Amino acid sequence: MNYRIGFGFDVHQLKEGLDFWVGGILLPHSKGGLGYSDADVLIHSICDALLGAANLGDIGQHFPDTDPKYKGIDSKILLQEVMCLVRENGYKLGNIDSTICLQRPKIGKHIPEMQKVLANCMGVDKALVSIKATTTEKLSFVGREEGISAYATVLIQSS
Ligand code: MG
Repeated sequence: MNYRIGFGFDVHQLKEGLDFWVGGILLPHSKGGLGYSDADVLIHSICDALLGAANLGDIGQHFPDTDPKYKGIDSKILLQEVMCLVRENGYKLGNIDSTICLQRPKIGKHIPEMQKVLANCMGVDKALVSIKATTTEKLSFVGREEGISAYATVLIQSS
């Protein structure tokens, strides 16, 4: 068995009046992520972690923000495509651990739904998808509610 780890990190600005997509679901909030796609920071960090684990580059190389076909795209489609690439390269998912950094609103109650949606999107058991959330104690751009960030670590394995 060959095991590989990957790490992903992403940030999006938060702006009033935009849809707030996180972990594949639409959250109720006055602000939303600014981005070329739907700005789903958690999915983007997971995509980068998966691509990194398989040494397949990064999300910007695969889905460039200069290509109109990715304008406003549902990031779940990107995650599905990344999982296809990972599988085509002979790997299956071991597990994911991730952390969303957001000052407000509290999103803990939405995490089980995110796990279900992302696991379904990747075609894996939701027990393999850990999602955590933290504030940054009002420090930095997250604490000032100017943005949201996410970190993800993944393990993939080939047989
Ligand atoms: Mg992003």
